[in-house]
Amino acid sequence: MSIQVQNTSKLYGKQKALNNVSFEVASAEIVGFLGPNGAGKSTMMKIITCFIPPTSGKVNVCGFDIAEQSIEVRKNIGYLPEHNPLYLDMYVKEYLLFIAGLHKLAGNRTQRVKEMIDRTGLAIEQNKKIGALSKGYRQRVGLAQAMIHDPKVLILDEPTSGLDPNQLTEIRNLIREIGKEKTVMLSTHIMQEVEAICNKVIIINKGEIVANTTTYELRNNSGNNQIINVEFDKSILPSLLKSIKGVKSVENINGNSWTITASSALDIRPEIFQFAVQNNLTVLTITKTIQSLEEVFQQLTR
Ligand code: ADP
Ligand code: MG
Repeated sequence: MSIQVQNTSKLYGKQKALNNVSFEVASAEIVGFLGPNGAGKSTMMKIITCFIPPTSGKVNVCGFDIAEQSIEVRKNIGYLPEHNPLYLDMYVKEYLLFIAGLHKLAGNRTQRVKEMIDRTGLAIEQNKKIGALSKGYRQRVGLAQAMIHDPKVLILDEPTSGLDPNQLTEIRNLIREIGKEKTVMLSTHIMQEVEAICNKVIIINKGEIVANTTTYELRNNSGNNQIINVEFDKSILPSLLKSIKGVKSVENINGNSWTITASSALDIRPEIFQFAVQNNLTVLTITKTIQSLEEVFQQLTR
């Protein structure tokens, strides 16, 4: 396991930012840490990266305890904090050399900086001051500094916030590439981002984990429903409609129009037609929509 979080809570004064959080991240996964603003994402990431201590609980990174082996943890982890704090007056290369120095990197640091510049696509901007770079290139500098000591695990706190659509695609592609060899945990409040980059998703709301699953599962099984709108020619008892195979709930819209919610596993429209025939009803209209992941997220974090 790359990251193990057990029963971790964090109090800021009286405010509980994390409440008994537990989860694990396996190696070479890209995990989306998804939650609305204020859910506790940054707090959890600061704890994992040894920037703040938890109030209670146990956290391991690559088998090292954050409280007792923080030096080992820091060696194994790269961190891109929220708002990516950079020294705007420093040149890209100078800054990366400075970071390499902080990590006391052995070997040729200039060579390592060059590798990072190539890896993150910074070559054409490498001679500029950081303050002169666009947000997308600043994020690349942030990623380069996070990876310079070749950590096994990367913690990226909202790495794509504030990027324009082109920059967004480029940084997502870069993270996907990085995820082929490293464990990546990235936070976001955008469901599409998780769909675009992550194999797994952990959803946090008000300091508590409300989902921990694969993106595939989330899309296909856990809670995303098919919604059928149907209008019959005559009235019908809701209890009868509910007896149709696969139906979770029914709601009368008006008159003989109904909204039927079913699990998305199978299309229940044929069942509805059969039901209509058996009950001497005519189907006047029928439409099906699949609940989006966005709606699943909204339900889980309401
Ligand atoms: P997220 O990153 O998901 O937006 P945070 O971890 O930043 O959430 O915040 C979780 C909760 O803890 C929020 O209610 C926030 O206001 C509170 N919080 C975060 N940092 C501090 C702090 N240093 N002092 C007091 N409250 C804080
Ligand atoms: Mg945050």
